[in-house]
Amino acid sequence: MIPFFRNLDDFLAFVELDIKVLSLNLSPNFPVKIPKAFAERIQKGHPKDPLLLQVLPRIQETRIAENFKIDPVGDLKKSPIQGLLHKYQSRALVVTTGHCDIHCRYCFRQHFPYAEESPNSQRIAYIKGYFEKHPEINELILSGGDPLSLSVKALKNWFDLAESMPSIHRIRIHTRSAITTPERISDELINVLKTSPLKHIWVVHINHTQEIDDSVQMALDRLKQAGVTLLNQSVLLKDINDDAHTLAQLSERLFDVGVMPYYLHQLDRVQGAQHFEVDENRAAEIYTELQTILPGYLVPKWVREIAGEPNKTLMSGGFS
Ligand SMILES: *Cc1c(COP(=O)(O)O)cnc(C)c1O
Ligand code: SF4
Repeated sequence: MIPFFRNLDDFLAFVELDIKVLSLNLSPNFPVKIPKAFAERIQKGHPKDPLLLQVLPRIQETRIAENFKIDPVGDLKKSPIQGLLHKYQSRALVVTTGHCDIHCRYCFRQHFPYAEESPNSQRIAYIKGYFEKHPEINELILSGGDPLSLSVKALKNWFDLAESMPSIHRIRIHTRSAITTPERISDELINVLKTSPLKHIWVVHINHTQEIDDSVQMALDRLKQAGVTLLNQSVLLKDINDDAHTLAQLSERLFDVGVMPYYLHQLDRVQGAQHFEVDENRAAEIYTELQTILPGYLVPKWVREIAGEPNKTLMSGGFS
């Protein structure tokens, strides 16, 4: 059993913080969920810790801002079959589960109606039918929630589906669990990956160097040895990583542990997350500086997701 904190008092006692010094949202709609393995990487007694700020339900969540929406990226409009999102030509994303091991307070899917969107076996058959009609899809993306919350057996069912479709060449997994709960990278999972004939790409989600400890490094090593290509996406987050040196340090560390930086996301404007937004002018300054520090291959692409666009939209940093 993976240990989690779901109760704020227990969590605050663990990180040695007094509830009175924090302004908290004590009855959040998006419940508190913090894996113990992640909580262990938070500095004790440090109310501004960059990992703490990602999981702490602060009172600002209850602020309603008009331009922050329930479904900021237009996912629900782009779902041809429940549980399948085909927004971009060559790749389709399956919402495999609504569960995550961690509840990131800035998450753009925090209001997603998962009960309706998680596929059952009948929907899996429909999804297969959809792929048959859309041979332009050559990559299956397993997302969620977090696909690693599934059993290895359920995950393998998705691999089997992809492997049975000649048009599908790659399986991509979007996961934060590999980082938050590295115990999910089990021998059983590694064996399934090693025997799969398709190319596997995992896009992990790390926002700050402090998230990478020895257990994470070990899990990433095992994935690499199983032949998985590892990429990272981060979200640019106020007071957490909104600084060129913090981001540069992250890229350097990612490279050291065998992960290539992929995307740096401008925050999706989801209701309850406005206190995490770094405004675009400031973000452009940070990105411009980041480009001067790092070799080009360690600079993640700075992107924003705009509903209705055929791809993630590149933001421009640097001189114009
Ligand atoms: C982000 C996203 C993808 C993947 O986009 P890439 O640019 O290929 O990483 C695919 N489908 C959906 C619905 C997405 O939101
Ligand atoms: S792990 Fe990903 S999907 Fe889950 S809450 Fe965090 S950002 Fe959202």
